[in-house]
Amino acid sequence: MMRTKLLTMTMNMVLFGAAGALLQPTDALAKGAATLPASNPFAAPSTLPFHAPPFDKIKDADYQPAIEAGMREQIAEMDKIAAQKDAATFANTIEPMERSGQMLNRVGAVFGAITGANTNPTLQKVQEAIAPKYAEHQDAIFLNDKLFQRVKALYDTRATLGLDAEQNELVERYYRNFVRAGAQLNEADKTRLRALNKEESTLTTDFSNKLLAANNAGAVIVSDKAELAGFSDADIAAAADAAKSRKMDGKYAITLQNTTQQPAQVSLENRATREKLFKASTERAEHGDANDTRAIIQRLAVLRAERAKLLGFPNYATYTLDDQMAKTPEAAEKLMTDMVPAATAKARGEAAAMQALIDKNGEKFKLAPWDWQHYAEKVRKAQYDLDESQIKPYLEINRVLEDGVFFAANQMYGLTFKERKDIPVYNPDIRVFEVFDKDGSSMALFYADYWKRDSKRGGAWMDNLVGQSGLMGTKPVVFNVCNFTKPAAGQPALISWDDATTMFHEFGHALHGMLSNVKYPTLSGTGVPRDFVEFPSQFNEHWASEPKVFANFAKHYKTGEPMPAALVEKIKKAKTFDQGFATTEYLAAALLDMSWHSLGVDAGKQDVDAFEKKTLHDLKIDMAEVPPRYRTSYFAHIWGGGYAAGYYAYLWSEVLDHDAFYWFREHGGMTRENGQRFRDMILSRGSTEDMAKMYRDFRGRDPSVEPLLEQRGLKEEAPAAK
Ligand SMILES: [Zn+2]
Repeated sequence: MMRTKLLTMTMNMVLFGAAGALLQPTDALAKGAATLPASNPFAAPSTLPFHAPPFDKIKDADYQPAIEAGMREQIAEMDKIAAQKDAATFANTIEPMERSGQMLNRVGAVFGAITGANTNPTLQKVQEAIAPKYAEHQDAIFLNDKLFQRVKALYDTRATLGLDAEQNELVERYYRNFVRAGAQLNEADKTRLRALNKEESTLTTDFSNKLLAANNAGAVIVSDKAELAGFSDADIAAAADAAKSRKMDGKYAITLQNTTQQPAQVSLENRATREKLFKASTERAEHGDANDTRAIIQRLAVLRAERAKLLGFPNYATYTLDDQMAKTPEAAEKLMTDMVPAATAKARGEAAAMQALIDKNGEKFKLAPWDWQHYAEKVRKAQYDLDESQIKPYLEINRVLEDGVFFAANQMYGLTFKERKDIPVYNPDIRVFEVFDKDGSSMALFYADYWKRDSKRGGAWMDNLVGQSGLMGTKPVVFNVCNFTKPAAGQPALISWDDATTMFHEFGHALHGMLSNVKYPTLSGTGVPRDFVEFPSQFNEHWASEPKVFANFAKHYKTGEPMPAALVEKIKKAKTFDQGFATTEYLAAALLDMSWHSLGVDAGKQDVDAFEKKTLHDLKIDMAEVPPRYRTSYFAHIWGGGYAAGYYAYLWSEVLDHDAFYWFREHGGMTRENGQRFRDMILSRGSTEDMAKMYRDFRGRDPSVEPLLEQRGLKEEAPAAK
C-alpha cells in the first residue's frame, strides 16, 4: 500500500488534501517571516548527499518549531504572490507557488517518515498539536481569493500562454483543486460549505467512535470451552485474556475484526459458535443502541450529496471521481459489474467444492456464510498442501533484496545499487543504497527499513524524504517500510513468500518515485490519482515470480540450491485459491460504496438495510454465502475514513497492473527495451498528463479486464453448483 500521508507537507499534499480539511474558518495564523534558530537542523537545506536528512542531528524538539516556522514561511510566500500588481503569468504565480514551502517540505517529509516508522509519545503529541494548525494552513492558501483569481486568470487564457504540456497540466491542476475546495463559490455558499464540512467531520468522527465501541461490544462471549473446539492453546489463552479485560474472568471472548468474515472461523469446529460469531459481526452496529451507526450514515449520504451539488456535481461519486483516472462513477461501476458474473460463478464453484466435502463427511447441512472460511481451509490443505516452513529457507531477505528486487530493476531499467554506510539513519536496522542509472550516473537514494519494531505502525509503505523535481534541482530520496519479523541474533533472516511479494510491491512504489523525471514538484513521482497509485507497485510484484528473477534469488540459504520445481509449482497454483470468494466480497462492498455515493440530494434519507439489500440484488451480487466484505453499517473506509466513492480504486489499479504485465508477455517479456518503454511512458512521468491517456499511449488501447480475470482464476470453467 501507499501510506496515508498524514503530514507530508508538500504542495502535492495541499492540493490533494481532503476538501473537508480545507474549508474551516481561517485567520488564526500568525503572519510574518519564518524565524527558526540556525541551530535547528531544518533551518537550512541539508548539506548531505541528495539533501538526505541529517538524522544524526535531528532531535524530537526540533520538529514542532520547524513545522510552525515552515507554515509561516509558506503563507508569507503565498501572500507575496497574491499581492503582486503585475498581471498573473505562469512565471510570477505558478512557479513561485511550486517553489514555496521549502522548509515545510523538508521537515514535513521527515516528520511523516519518523512518526510512521519510529515514533514515541513526544512525537505523537506534536502530531496532535500540529494537525489543526495544518488544516488552517491549507485553508489560508485555498481560501485566498486573490491567489485564486490569479490562478483562474491563467487557467482561462492557458491556450494562449505558450505553455508546454507539463505546464498546461499544472495550471489545470491548480485551478481544479482550488475549485474543488470551493474557491469559486459566493460567500453564502462558502458559508454553507464550511457548515457541511464541519458537520461531516463531526459525523465521521462519531461514526468511528461508535464503530469502535460496537466492535468491542460485539465480541462473542463463551462460557464453555467446548464451544471453542478447534482453537489452539494460544487462541484459547488469548480469548481468556480478552474476557478478563472485559471483567468477565473465567469466560472466553472472541473479539471482532473490521471485516464481515472473522479469522477465528477458520479453526472453530463448533458450527453453532461460528453462526453466533457471524451474526455478532454482521449485526454489530445495528442493535438500535448507542452504538448503532445507521442514523449517521443516513445523514452522511444526504450531506455529501448536498455538498457535491453545491460544488456543481450531481452526486458525491461524480465529484470524487472527477479528478481520478476512472473519471466517472459509471466507468468504475462498469468495471465492477462486468466482473460480477465471473466472480460469483467462481465463488459458486468454490462453494460446491466445500459442499462436496461436507457431504462426504456425512454432515447434513447446506454451506452457510459462517462455514465458508472453515471449509475453505480444509479444501486448501487438501488441494494445495502449501507449507510455509518448506519455502522460507529459500527466501533469505538480503538475497531477495539484492538478487531479486534490485536484480529485476536492473534487468528492466538498467539500475545498479551500492550500499552506503555514511548516510545517517533513524534506526540501526535501516540500510541505505545509492542508485545509479543505466549510464552509471548517480540518481537516487533508497532506504530499506524492513523489520518490525514497537515504534512502527503496522503495514508496509513507501514515501519520499526528498522528491524529484527539475525545477528545484532535487533528486529523489525514497524509503520502503515493512513489518517483517526480525530474526533472533545469529539466525538467518528468512521471510515468507508473502513478505517477498511485499518487498517487490513497495519497491514498485519506490521505482515510481526514483525514476520520476518531471519539472514540477506537484506532478512528480507518486503524486498521482488514488486509482492509479497502486499500479506501478502491483505491476512490480509480477517480477517476483518471473523465472529468471526467481531463479536468481530463491536459493537455499545454506546450500545455495535452487527451490525445487514442485514447490515453485505449489506457490503458483495457490495464487488463485479462494479468489471467487475474495473477488465477490470485495465487489459487493465496492459496489455498495459507489451506490451510496451516487445518490442525488433529492433521493433523501434511505433506509440503510433496505438500500443495501436492494443494491446487492439489483447488481446481482447478493450471494447468500458471500456477504460484502464490509456491510454498510460498519464500512469504516467510506463513513469514517477517506475512501468514500473510492473503494473501487484497488481493483482499478489491479486491472492496469495485470494488463500492463500482459503487454510485456505479448512483446517478448522482461527485456531492457521493454522496461525502458515502461519507464519512459509511465514510471518517469508522475501525473504530467491525463492518466487514461498516459496508459492508452503505453498499451496501445484502453485497459482490458481480461488479464485480471485470468490471473485471479476467474476464467476457469466453474463446476456447476449443486
Ligand atoms: Zn501499495
